[in-house]
Amino acid sequence: MDASGYGVLGVGFIFWFILVFVCLFVSASIAKKKHRSVAGWVILTLFLGIIATILLALLPTREKVVGSPGYFPTFSDEAVAGVSKKCPQCAEIVKAEAKICRFCGYKFEAKQ
Ligand SMILES: [Zn+2]
Repeated sequence: MDASGYGVLGVGFIFWFILVFVCLFVSASIAKKKHRSVAGWVILTLFLGIIATILLALLPTREKVVGSPGYFPTFSDEAVAGVSKKCPQCAEIVKAEAKICRFCGYKFEAKQ
């Protein structure tokens, strides 16, 4: 039993621990960015370590799905949600409360 051997092992363990910890954060951020399961990839990283992180980095970005946790609404989606509306004349997106189109001057019918 060599005392210095234990020291190397201890340092190695700390380094491995830090590496896994860093990989967890990297995996979580990549998973979030790629619209993938963050919890799933964190668990996978715990088991596979840096291999899972590299695997995730190589995977293509998943297509956006309406209603999924990683979904960010786009401008046209806001029109659907009622925040804005599409001008029937010039097809530009204007505010839902707008009575007149700011692009072409089209007069919207008063809702209320
Ligand atoms: Zn217009």
